Amino acid sequence: MPFLTQLADVARRTGHPVTEVGGWKTRGHGPQPEVKGIVCHHTAGPAAGGDYPSLAVVRDGRPGLDGPLSHFGLGRSGHVYVIAAGRCWHNAPSTSPQHTNSSSIGIEAENDGSQPWPAVQLDAYRKLCAELCREFGLPASRVKAHREVNTAKPDPHSIDMNDFRAAVAALVNGAPAPGPTGPPGPTWTEDILRELPLIRLGDDNYDVKTVRGCLFARGHVPPTVYAGIQDGLEGWLKTTQCDNGLVELVRGFQRAEGIDEDGLVGPATWAPLLRV
Ligand SMILES: [Zn+2]
Repeated sequence: MPFLTQLADVARRTGHPVTEVGGWKTRGHGPQPEVKGIVCHHTAGPAAGGDYPSLAVVRDGRPGLDGPLSHFGLGRSGHVYVIAAGRCWHNAPSTSPQHTNSSSIGIEAENDGSQPWPAVQLDAYRKLCAELCREFGLPASRVKAHREVNTAKPDPHSIDMNDFRAAVAALVNGAPAPGPTGPPGPTWTEDILRELPLIRLGDDNYDVKTVRGCLFARGHVPPTVYAGIQDGLEGWLKTTQCDNGLVELVRGFQRAEGIDEDGLVGPATWAPLLRV
């Protein structure tokens, strides 16, 4: 089996928003040899910090374990992050031959390991598993908690996997899902995204100031950037021109978010810039 470049399309069938994390189609510890099972995880990431603060760790790894750590990330809002199309280090050693790194897909859902699961995130979790079962011809019984196939692991916490699998099976068979159904309505961010222009090098308008303000608010503007500017930070924030310095900061932000580092502020970059 090659790299699983269909995973983003599979995720979109859930009806939940999907972000294709830059480079995902060729990311992996080699290609995925086969898909016989699905393993559900929680990230044990920070309790706060936005929708999917574990993105960089899941994509790049942590000391002692290289990334990618799973194919998918699942944000608290039900947003699906497609991180890798190749093999990921999400379950070793496995007690099940269908759920090894080489034989299964991993989903890392954001949760600190004890906080309640938002209903919308559980809805997306079930639907993503159901669409993966459909895509790879798997019964819902092949969806396992990490703790079911690796006795040293606790995740994902507090999800009754028998109930979860029953819901996945109902979805695969076309029955309505229990609990919240359908994608969430558009957020205020999605509404205003349609109004915002593409910002690129050389542009000179009011929206450039919005980019500057968002980058600063998100901690992507080190003091060295405005140290030599008249009025310092205030002067920098008021500048309406998109210069090389700003484009470099945009690239840094895009790198941190795992989206394409093109230096352009379009919908894919406006969304995380404006995320509440
Ligand atoms: Zn796990």
